[in-house]
Amino acid sequence: MNLTGKTAIVTGAGRGIGREICLRLSDLGANVVINYAGNDAEAAKTLSLCQNAVTVKADVSDEKECKRIFDVCGEKFGTPDILINNAGITKDNLLMRMNESDFDRVLDVNLKGAFNCVKLASRPMMKAKYGRIVNISSVVALSGNVGQVNYVASKAGLIGLTKASALELAARGITVNAVAPGFIETDMTASLTEEVRAKMASQIPLGYFGEPKDVAETVAFLCSDGARYITGQVISVNGGIYL
Ligand code: NAP
Repeated sequence: MNLTGKTAIVTGAGRGIGREICLRLSDLGANVVINYAGNDAEAAKTLSLCQNAVTVKADVSDEKECKRIFDVCGEKFGTPDILINNAGITKDNLLMRMNESDFDRVLDVNLKGAFNCVKLASRPMMKAKYGRIVNISSVVALSGNVGQVNYVASKAGLIGLTKASALELAARGITVNAVAPGFIETDMTASLTEEVRAKMASQIPLGYFGEPKDVAETVAFLCSDGARYITGQVISVNGGIYL
């Protein structure tokens, strides 16, 4: 795989899976725009690990802030060839106890954030007749999960967004796919108790949590020439937990 000369925007890339995606795309030669929400130190670390990169602090739920990510990309590297919608948050609670603001915030970041960025990317990509868009969904979008109606709805919505935009953009040489990770070792899963982790691991046929690089490798493939005939698909990276 070779992404020399390509420019990628990766949202939510200060830490975790997003950081690893940046590293892999950078390894393959891409210029990388590292978006993050507020943790400057972690974003600086991602920046230091990439070859040609720039950081942009911006909240993807806000269309104007997303525009700034694309403006910085344009100034530094030109128009984006690759967009990875990875920014995501959880605000878990049982349905009966979940308040409206926690429902709205998760939908705004995880789903509307991706919509904002796909919309901004689509014009230059259509003009270039080339583009690779990957949306990071989740296994729970397919299986459901207790205590996560907001998160599951946002991640299932991302699959719908992926399929509809794949159809709209296919004629212009743009592919749009989703990756649905299972349990991956990041800050998002670090708060689970040992008991819960052991229970979850026992339900994973491969027997262990995945690592960010497992997701990054799949994302990199979907951005490569070898994946040119794959669009509108959901690729699971989950150790077999949901077949
Ligand atoms: P993480 O370690 O919690 O990192 C989340 C990243 O998103 C951080 O860089 C954070 O920025 C950024 N972010 C949060 N809100 C944002 C906003 N409003 N605008 C821009 N950036 C924002 O998460 P992760 O585990 O790597 O997860 C990455 C993606 O994979 C998410 O979409 C998640 O839902 C999905 N996923 C994860 C797992 C898993 O097991 N970890 C499983 C399935 C799917 P700061 O660093 O500045 O806070």
